[in-house]
Amino acid sequence: MHTPHFDTLIIGSGPAGEGAAMKLAKSGRQVAVVEAFDQVGGGCTHWGTIPSKALRQTIQQLADYRRNPLFQRTVRQIHVDYPELLAAAGSIIRGQVRTKYRYYDRNRVEVIHGRARLADTGTVEVLQAQGHSQHYTADHVVIATGSRPYQPPDVDFSHPRVLDSDSVLRLDHTPGSLTIYGAGVIGCEYASIFCNLDVKVNLVNTRDRLLAFLDDEITDALGYYLRNQGTVIRHNEEYERVEALDDGVVLHCKSGKKFKTDCLLWANGRAGNSADLGLEALGIGTNSRGQIRVNELYRTAVSHIYAVGDVAGPPGLASASYDQGRFVAMDIAEGRCDWRLVEDFPTGIYTSPEISSIGRTERELTDQKVPYEVGRAMFKNIARAQITGHTVGMLKLLFHRETLEILGIHCFGEQASEIVHIGQAIMAQEGTANSLSYFTETTFNYPTMAEAYRVAALNGLNRIF
Ligand SMILES: Cc1cc2nc3c(=O)[nH]c(=O)nc-3n(C[C@H](O)[C@H](O)[C@H](O)COP(=O)(O)OP(=O)(O)OC[C@H]3O[C@@H](n4cnc5c(N)ncnc54)[C@H](O)[C@@H]3O)c2cc1C
Repeated sequence: MHTPHFDTLIIGSGPAGEGAAMKLAKSGRQVAVVEAFDQVGGGCTHWGTIPSKALRQTIQQLADYRRNPLFQRTVRQIHVDYPELLAAAGSIIRGQVRTKYRYYDRNRVEVIHGRARLADTGTVEVLQAQGHSQHYTADHVVIATGSRPYQPPDVDFSHPRVLDSDSVLRLDHTPGSLTIYGAGVIGCEYASIFCNLDVKVNLVNTRDRLLAFLDDEITDALGYYLRNQGTVIRHNEEYERVEALDDGVVLHCKSGKKFKTDCLLWANGRAGNSADLGLEALGIGTNSRGQIRVNELYRTAVSHIYAVGDVAGPPGLASASYDQGRFVAMDIAEGRCDWRLVEDFPTGIYTSPEISSIGRTERELTDQKVPYEVGRAMFKNIARAQITGHTVGMLKLLFHRETLEILGIHCFGEQASEIVHIGQAIMAQEGTANSLSYFTETTFNYPTMAEAYRVAALNGLNRIF
């Protein structure tokens, strides 16, 4: 049988695979993407980022409506169930899938539907739905197969009350109460979502703080607002066992604490989709969570086979995955690396309030003995926030007190994940162009949330002596 040949074969059509495919196609390479699911887009589009963000947006709108004094008379008549809110995500997913097929089509990237495995270091076997398989050869292979929720073997995920971040998207009712085990990004985001639906939520954290990689002031605020919305947060807990019953689920913790709720959402870690790819036979290693071992160029032990995105480990973000794909595509097509694509990336966390940050935290700067200063703007003082009613939030700029170089931007509140990009653009400037002065010497539209930068910059400059 004829064996088609490509410059590069990409396994997986999530952000990592798409990023690699588009960059390679634009560099004139002959590329194909193999996708096991019957539509492109990856876990990101179908069971990760997009559905959870669409769900969150709908629930946010409902919460905004309930808060608005104009609608106080009608608000009690509105009752919306979780599955109805979930349904709203469907049209967004379909829109994303259409857009992505258009991109592949326009850039002449062949999409092959089927499950891929590496037959040898240059051959990929694709098992198609009809049961027959086809071999393809390639000079380079990019593995971008993503991740799935980690499921410890002693927890019964077949029980309808025991959920993970995939099956929570198929929940057919609004639970009265929910325990979330794992207070990472996914756990915190779902805590916010269910709180806004008036579900009683326990958020059980295995660590001593929420989202310890963020600035302390921001996570303190997150903890405060989650509690304010009714979430019970428990830190430093480790599960002993999960008891799934007909009328609820009991999470037994090693500390002796027990939580009984209608459902349990397990949000404690992800595992890389690397099994059945034929990696072992090629000497390509993985860790205990199935994440493929790569070097700083995202090359595996076989140097023309790359692994990017969630399957290659942290940070587990769609944004970072897309750029890792572009990074390896550049290495393949041009033999050079653009380190900016993989070094500095922002974090966006879609809790209520939303959180976003880039650069170093106060803790890091203190440890590194960098003489920094802080400038803050509280959203409650910003005209645009007063107009929209989203007055909860803060923008915090960390800058070098001598050079005024911006070192970190930390924001929480409505639109935080958009707001951070204004500062990111200045932080990315070379030399003295990365300066706090930009915000005091530039005219911004008024009223906007961008004004928070000017307010924070002036607040910071006032501390300099
Ligand atoms: C609930 C949730 C919310 C999230 N929210 C955000 C967010 O707000 N922002 C953010 O940046 N990130 C978010 N993420 C993370 C983000 O979704 C992932 O980091 C991103 O999807 C990783 O992209 P990827 O391309 O590596 O893998 P994926 O998007 O998972 O795509 C992998 C693709 O590979 C395919 N595949 C697997 N094995 C094979 C095979 N053998 N052959 C062929 N195809 C195969 C899969 O079918 C899948 O389509 C969230 C994740 C979850 C679970």
